[in-house]
Amino acid sequence: MKEAYILTTFEALGLSNTLLRSVAALGFEAPTPIQRDAIPHVLAGRDLMGLAQTGTGKTAAFGLPLVQHLMAEKHLPEARAVRALVLAPTRELVNQIADNLRAYVKRTDLRVATVVGGASINNQVRALSRGTDVLVATPGRLLDLVERRAVRLDTARFLVLDEADQMLDLGFIHALRKIATLVGSPRQTLLFSATMPKQMEELSRAYLNDPVRVEVSPPGKAADLVRQSVHFVEQSAKPDLLKRLLAEDRDALSLVFSRTKHGAERLMKQLCAAGINAGSIHGNKSQGQRERAIAAFRKGEIRVLVATDVAARGIDIPGVSHVYNFDLPEVPESYVHRIGRTARAGAGGDAVAFCTAEDVGLLRAVEKLTGVPVAVASGEVPPEQRGSRPASRRGRPNGQPRAAGAATGKPNGQRRQPEHASHGHGNGPRHGAPQKPGAAAAAKRRRHRPARDHAMA
Ligand code: AMP
Repeated sequence: MKEAYILTTFEALGLSNTLLRSVAALGFEAPTPIQRDAIPHVLAGRDLMGLAQTGTGKTAAFGLPLVQHLMAEKHLPEARAVRALVLAPTRELVNQIADNLRAYVKRTDLRVATVVGGASINNQVRALSRGTDVLVATPGRLLDLVERRAVRLDTARFLVLDEADQMLDLGFIHALRKIATLVGSPRQTLLFSATMPKQMEELSRAYLNDPVRVEVSPPGKAADLVRQSVHFVEQSAKPDLLKRLLAEDRDALSLVFSRTKHGAERLMKQLCAAGINAGSIHGNKSQGQRERAIAAFRKGEIRVLVATDVAARGIDIPGVSHVYNFDLPEVPESYVHRIGRTARAGAGGDAVAFCTAEDVGLLRAVEKLTGVPVAVASGEVPPEQRGSRPASRRGRPNGQPRAAGAATGKPNGQRRQPEHASHGHGNGPRHGAPQKPGAAAAAKRRRHRPARDHAMA
């Protein structure tokens, strides 16, 4: 990011004075790389494929030029019509994008509306009836509203697909195909994704016309800034280990990932019972509960947020110092998404994984994807077991495989080892190749392997 601060200013990117004032009010001093690279193309009307993760400043990269185009056109939306459509995978991300856009349009009379599942559809129908300049939506609820004739998309001249890979992961491909046929033409389309699975090529062919490709901070890059470590631990010992690590650093703001929603809830309760101020977000929580938990976490009122991947997707929480993979994710890309929540804006962060003997295959898949070995902080490295869970495609309803190397954008092994790959939890780190464990300990671990609850969030 530093290089961008020296080379570019927002003025040089061609933004209007109104937007420059909004940017200044937000405290943005200089464009981030994705903003520097994308904004001039978007202002010039080009379609764009942006490879960037949350945390890179991509919302402003599409939001600022989008608002500038809408201001230049100077016409009011007709009843039920939408001038610009932004699609995002989850309601949290939709709300976050809308909050950002509302800050950009503060000095204009442009209207920003949201539609998300789980909220009152009647309120949304009412809000859309006057027409809206920018609609930020999750695909499923948007199609419900189209079917009710509450909204017209044929008037939309701008389309943004944010976190497109996550939308594919969540099974929105059919909804996206359908929406592609409904939005207006000609139009300008911007597609942002952290990873580039094969299915994305089909999506980009369907949506984009001669796109400019802008790539910053390839996925996996976050691993360069984050101090990664792993504790080899039995499933039943994980809660106590987490409590001990949380107690070591009382100023930490920690995001803890659990594989299941029941597991997340149980863990949150265990932490609270131990006097740790914790909250949780997962699929069994209402939207209001999730929003309150995220707001409390942002304000530092709770210092530990236990989340499932789906609930935490794309949420930007500044200041997260630690990301705990209480359970390793079943797909290695999720690990990259998770640890990308820390080490924002060049600051260091800690990613701490808990790995059972059964999950060693998942850990190795993560290391293969990022090209960075994870430093061992405590516990004995179990041998690669027959029956150890391989990285799977669970949670990817479309069954889309991803090539490990392709997702990082770099061949494996080309990454630099993080400077502080070790950071002294437990027995002190031991780097590198798996060590020979005691056969008795490994057998004991196998005997104690707990049954799992695979309900996804
Ligand atoms: P995003 O990737 O859009 O979710 O943005 C991540 C965070 O970076 C948000 O909290 C933004 O407010 C912040 N941000 C975006 N652009 C800039 C910038 N140019 N300078 C400083 N912070 C920024």
